[in-house]
Amino acid sequence: MDNIKEDVVGAWNQVHRCLEKKLPGHAIHAWFEPIIPVGFRNGSFVLEVPNQFFLEWIESHYKDDIIKALEKTYSDKIQYKFLITKEKKKKVERTAPQTSAFEPKAKRFNNLNLKYTFENFIVGSNNEFAKTASESVANNPGEQNFNPLIIYGGVGLGKTHLMHAIGNRALENNRDLNIVNITSEQFTLDFVNSLRKNKTIEFAQNYRSSDILLIDDIQFFRGKEQTQEQFFHTFNVLHQSGKQIVLTADKFPGEMKGLQTRLLSRFQSGLSVDVQPPNFEVRVAILLEKAEQNGLSLDYSIIEFIAQHIKNNVRELEGTIIRLLAKSSLLNVEINNRLVTEVVKERVGGRIGNQVSIENIVKKVSEVSHIKENDIVGKSRKMEITEARQVSMYLCRDIMGTSLNNIGMFFGGRDHTTVIHALKTVNEKKSNNVRMKKMITSIRKELGFSFL
Ligand code: ADP
Ligand code: MG
Repeated sequence: MDNIKEDVVGAWNQVHRCLEKKLPGHAIHAWFEPIIPVGFRNGSFVLEVPNQFFLEWIESHYKDDIIKALEKTYSDKIQYKFLITKEKKKKVERTAPQTSAFEPKAKRFNNLNLKYTFENFIVGSNNEFAKTASESVANNPGEQNFNPLIIYGGVGLGKTHLMHAIGNRALENNRDLNIVNITSEQFTLDFVNSLRKNKTIEFAQNYRSSDILLIDDIQFFRGKEQTQEQFFHTFNVLHQSGKQIVLTADKFPGEMKGLQTRLLSRFQSGLSVDVQPPNFEVRVAILLEKAEQNGLSLDYSIIEFIAQHIKNNVRELEGTIIRLLAKSSLLNVEINNRLVTEVVKERVGGRIGNQVSIENIVKKVSEVSHIKENDIVGKSRKMEITEARQVSMYLCRDIMGTSLNNIGMFFGGRDHTTVIHALKTVNEKKSNNVRMKKMITSIRKELGFSFL
């Protein structure tokens, strides 16, 4: 018996190595390290996982990868099965926060927050393009097509993070760069002070000597004519000498009110990229990352609960983790469901339960696709109806993180493999079918799940 057990562990290690070659480190860490290989039962390789959420996640994301890795290891087709761990894992394990140890004591002149890096920025379809563009700018500052780079989007979606990450990376590549990093309010204040002290020439020189100029939240230039004038000249000097400019804003530059048109037209010479609210999967990944950064190990059911309720804003997700930590240590209680519900309730203003519901989603899909709601949740296999049903299933998972079983139950009592198939189909269609992409974007927008 022991022999078989040893074999299983050895085999699993091999499977693990195969997976490591294919999947990103954070996926291995989050989803594969907690798996315990148990042994063979009725011809299936049995893997123990912490809970149902975990099981569904792996099934819907990594099924094919596991099958392939098992096949490679055994040179044969091998079935596998999950078993959910019976005993409850310890809820909180606390270690000292890791970040502080790496922070230099002296505050740096450029105010770059060293915690904002590309490495700890979680990527999803909501911010992928913004991150890629930012990284490219950091590695090749001043390149014509990306100058200025404007990162825009709603509150708490990572604009400042990306901008600082650009500064940090550029400095890593070249310590000698003069990076000026400032908010538009500081810029304004600095300018007003220079006027008062008759030092506008020094002011201009200061800014114009930068190799990379980072200005956060330029919507605050709104209505400040003289500051805009100064900024316009600074912008031109830097741009003409091939120095990189990175700006963040709350809206697409073309839609910004109160900024001079000549400024807006300058912005068009570069690249504008947006950040959108993260979907359920990205929210889970962010929560896992933030919990780990804070030395907190949370049950997956808790992570899932938070991700289902806090939807629009990464800062809020982070705030929830920190609040949980603070409350549990102040009150000296374990982080349990009650505490989590309490904290999440505070955050969403008491509205526990989703503002967006499955019914809501079906209603919107019905409006857009002109398929009756009853048909969407019914049994028909007609092509248009199936498609509307699949889109609805996809949106339930994507926005709310509804479990596969619950989705299946709601949509005509289907089982979870049907749901997985639906999600996969929509995912594929979404990337190569413009009509599908438009439909999904517009429904998300109507459900208020997009900042535009
Ligand atoms: P914004 O400037 O868009 O309002 P921030 O950049 O200040 O938002 O982000 C708010 C918080 O959320 C920051 O602590 C940031 O590190 C974190 N954050 C935002 N997006 C991500 C992400 N994709 N991955 C990791 N952390 C993120
Ligand atoms: Mg910001």
